[in-house]
Amino acid sequence: EAKRAKVRCMRFDPRWERARESHLSLLSALRVAVEQDHLRQFLQPKVDAVSGALVGAEALVRWQHPTRGFISPGEFIPFAEQTGRIRDLTRWMLRRAIRNLAHLPALQAPGCYLAVNISTLDLLDTDLPAWLATQLEAGGVDPSRLQLEVTESGLLASGNGPVKVLTALRAVGVTLALDDFGTGQSSLAYLQRLPVQELKIDRSFVSNVDHDTRRQNLLNAIVDLGHSLGLTVTAEGVETVGELQVLRRCGVDLIQGYLISEPINEDDFAGQSVLA
Ligand code: C2E
Ligand code: CA
Ligand code: CA
Ligand code: CA
Repeated sequence: EAKRAKVRCMRFDPRWERARESHLSLLSALRVAVEQDHLRQFLQPKVDAVSGALVGAEALVRWQHPTRGFISPGEFIPFAEQTGRIRDLTRWMLRRAIRNLAHLPALQAPGCYLAVNISTLDLLDTDLPAWLATQLEAGGVDPSRLQLEVTESGLLASGNGPVKVLTALRAVGVTLALDDFGTGQSSLAYLQRLPVQELKIDRSFVSNVDHDTRRQNLLNAIVDLGHSLGLTVTAEGVETVGELQVLRRCGVDLIQGYLISEPINEDDFAGQSVLA
């Protein structure tokens, strides 16, 4: 099951660029990818840390290049941001997420939600909240079933605009998660200013936490902080049973990571729980 879903992600070879592949052709390739259905939405389950029950999933974009195979988002998202292509990509992901929320059997359990990653640049797009409200309505999906994940990086630095757009998005009824928590410059300032419901602890705090008391103490403090603010606390990148045991002891609410499942394509997403 997990095997079947395993996808090889190619890295951009700089030589491609030096040979025929100019930035311009990459840019048009990305435009074509968005327009001609070369993008895929993979889903990674999020489960209750104690019961193992499926509570939702995170949507992760994949680019299936006709000749290069799958290209990982870490390679093309920054490029999409630099070239302005991110706006269409985000909207493609949101439309697809709404469709999956409406139709995927595994996402139909009560309270089950799907999270989409939003780029900081999307938060300069003042049309996004109204557009999203229209899409949710047209898809017949309750806004509370959609979550938007935002990262700390550079968000507050770009003035008040992003916070306004986030507040407007929240007013549409979607929930917000602060992604990669702990890795940014000003995590606490974000918690203070952003209307978020969920805090996602970055994998760097989770990896080998069972072998590192210092990391365990940090994790404990982050979980307590999140709970004291009334937030759901999620650990991402959980890979081992040892990590899971510590996370449970710390009171983490939700678990996401290869231990449960890699991101899998939407057709194969059955949402079965593997946590005993
Ligand atoms: P992220 O939002 O922090 O997503 C988690 C990444 O960690 C994903 O990589 C996921 O496949 C990977 N992962 C999940 N569980 C584990 C685990 O147990 N161990 C390890 N080592 N890795 C795990 P992915 O899909 O390659 O995405 C990388 C980043 O690209 C994401 O980090 C996110 O920042 C960005 N991204 C992905 N999809 C989108 C999208 O649709 N829009 C935007 N703006 N960014 C996206
Ligand atoms: Ca994320
Ligand atoms: Ca993350
Ligand atoms: Ca990350």
